[in-house]
Amino acid sequence: MEWKDPVSRLKGVGEQREKKLNKLGIFTLEDLLTHYPREYKDRSKLTKISELEMDGESSFIARCKGNGETMRHGRFTFTRLRVQDETGEMGVLWYNQPYMKTALKIGEWYLFTGKLQNKYGRKEFSVSEWERIGEHFAGGRIIPVYPSVDGISQKMLRGLMEDALEQVGGGLAEDMPLWIRQENQLAERNFSIEQIHFPKTEQSFYDARRRLVFEEFFVLQGALFSLKSYLEHGNKGFVMKKKKALIEFENKLPFQLTNAQKKVLKEMERDMSTGKKMNRLIQGDVGSGKTAVAMAASYWVIQNGYQSVLMAPTEVLAQQHYHSFSALFDSLGMETVLLTGGQSAKEKRTALAKVASGEGKMIIGTHAVIQKGVEYHKLGLAITDEQHRFGVRQRGALNQKGEDPHTLVMTATPIPRTLALILYGDLDVSIIDELPPGRQKIDTMAVSSDYHERIYNFIEKHVQDGRQAYVICPMIEENEKLEVQSVLNYTEELQQKLTHCNVQCVHGKMKAKEKQEIMDAFAKGEIHVLVSTTVIEVGINVPNAVIMLIENAERFGLAQLHQLRGRVGRGSEKSYCVLVSDAKTKIAKQRLKALVDSEDGFVISEMDLKLRGPGEFFGTRQHGLPELKIANIYQDMPILIEAQKAADKLLKQDPFLNLELHQGIKNRFAQFLDGKSLEI
Ligand code: ADP
Ligand code: MG
Repeated sequence: MEWKDPVSRLKGVGEQREKKLNKLGIFTLEDLLTHYPREYKDRSKLTKISELEMDGESSFIARCKGNGETMRHGRFTFTRLRVQDETGEMGVLWYNQPYMKTALKIGEWYLFTGKLQNKYGRKEFSVSEWERIGEHFAGGRIIPVYPSVDGISQKMLRGLMEDALEQVGGGLAEDMPLWIRQENQLAERNFSIEQIHFPKTEQSFYDARRRLVFEEFFVLQGALFSLKSYLEHGNKGFVMKKKKALIEFENKLPFQLTNAQKKVLKEMERDMSTGKKMNRLIQGDVGSGKTAVAMAASYWVIQNGYQSVLMAPTEVLAQQHYHSFSALFDSLGMETVLLTGGQSAKEKRTALAKVASGEGKMIIGTHAVIQKGVEYHKLGLAITDEQHRFGVRQRGALNQKGEDPHTLVMTATPIPRTLALILYGDLDVSIIDELPPGRQKIDTMAVSSDYHERIYNFIEKHVQDGRQAYVICPMIEENEKLEVQSVLNYTEELQQKLTHCNVQCVHGKMKAKEKQEIMDAFAKGEIHVLVSTTVIEVGINVPNAVIMLIENAERFGLAQLHQLRGRVGRGSEKSYCVLVSDAKTKIAKQRLKALVDSEDGFVISEMDLKLRGPGEFFGTRQHGLPELKIANIYQDMPILIEAQKAADKLLKQDPFLNLELHQGIKNRFAQFLDGKSLEI
């Protein structure tokens, strides 16, 4: 058998079982053997029958003496039989498994795990697990416990693993270059896969796990790095000229660019004017003015005769960008075209025609801009806003539109460097580390729900002064229907309480047009209080909104809360962020305190990472982290850093992985990148 063979080739895997395994993404023997144990049970210490004690779980090996007997007591059955080793005899017992009466063969040896008990007037051993001692039995051992597969027992899974290892174990090519294995003291691949399932010793388990974790990080990181070197050297970028246009544009802005914005613009100018293809990430806290930078870059590209496209994660954001771009670009004679899923067929047709003819210079939209049927006339720059909602794949799709446009990715999530590398290792990074002048500090407070009356009064007072407020409703995870209901209920409640305010809501189930109408009315100040889930978390810009009230704040990621807070404090008025939470745990309190204490996105994100780990770092709904089979980004951070260093070293030495000894790992990287060729 081969690693790529279907699991159905294993004995005992019929159609039914195969389906169940497929559901978990297990199709081949390789998939099966990389379904790693979740935990282990130590069955390595065996006891003799005469030494069995009453406390805790124990295991012993004994021979079956005869068939069992089953007794019925009401709803229960008790099946008992006698077993024996060289030190004595013992009765063993199964609850509600009458088939055990004849499941064991008389005279054969078995390993029993369970507890010795003294109930029903006798001492006997209640069995939780048993297995036959076959040819391969080498004493008691540490046994794997797998993430459960519906309808397949642990014992069955263990058997399949053993069988698969027997069939194909030892046959995997070692694709990690030897020098990397040596420098990082990594165990061999086949050894590791075998030992991760059935570790012989604790040490071999640690060695195996370290190797597999390292490998997983290494492939992830190395693939991105090699994509980067391929993009840098393999792709020629359009050469942008007329640098004066950039200065021209700066003069047309109603404000002076900050030094940080200028610095980033310079970096982009260098990328795009040299014939190199730009692949750049702009990281900048909420409100740092990323849009202005994107606008300047677009203006320049358009002046060079190309089109520019901006992809936003939501319709509302696309609309907002459309308004701010067209406000400026229209007056400069450059047409901005909007392209979203919510448009009517006719609107879409008109828009598509303009994109194709080149009449539309600046194209703004949602995913619609990368869909089939969108033909660009001459695309020179592709920008994605709030990147963490799009994966590497979508980034790629936008790249492939047109003939390899320059790409720019903008994110407000300040990600610690180690994480940024595994998310954006294929990109160059620019950081806008300065806010435009005159921003006021946003007063942040964390309160319990006892404060509701006071908070409502606070909102009413500000509305009477002409200001507006956002209210973020409790988020109900994984259930959109309930969530909509909760927004509607809460809105109704607020409408009754805030008698002087026009309170309206937006939620995920609304039609794009409806949502847009509400957002427009809010932007115009007709709606005073906007209730929503997290629909508005990214990008929305309404300077007159000065209060951000967040219910059940403990349920959000800190990075997300920080983003939400960034919706206020955009105008000249003093702004407030109120975090309501009744959570009592120490961590929950520390987290909210981090937000009260700091306005620096980086500080906050580091804190969040420390307190909760990366799984939740981005908030439950928007993690862009790749799925990992064995590694845990937080616990295995030291290994991640080693793997990153190694990947960096590999690509510095052999940027295109041309050396013979790097072919194996090159193929692994290509597989990871979905078959994308890394040939220049
Ligand atoms: P973000 O980085 O969150 O996308 P935006 O680009 O939306 O931030 O900018 C936030 C606000 O700051 C906008 O109203 C924008 O017009 C304004 N702004 C951007 N750059 C500057 C600047 N250099 N000086 C003053 N205001 C600026
Ligand atoms: Mg923005």
